[in-house]
Amino acid sequence: MIVHIKQEECILCGNCSSTCPEVFIVEPGESSKVTKKYRGKNDSEGEINENLFECVQSAADSCPVSIISLQ
Ligand code: SF4
Repeated sequence: MIVHIKQEECILCGNCSSTCPEVFIVEPGESSKVTKKYRGKNDSEGEINENLFECVQSAADSCPVSIISLQ
């Protein structure tokens, strides 16, 4: 599954990294990124296994601006 973060609309709230730190990292002053372990060509997207689906889905649900997508 592919996870994508629309980084330009990130408000840096940190909900995603609190909810699913395995897949998301929010550093001070920077928009959310996919962690190095799961990152693809750039840090706004990555590929995850089914076992992380619930974690990523919860993070997406916790995002106040709904910019995390999972396909
Ligand atoms: S939850 Fe959404 S707005 Fe908040 S840091 Fe994560 S991607 Fe950005």
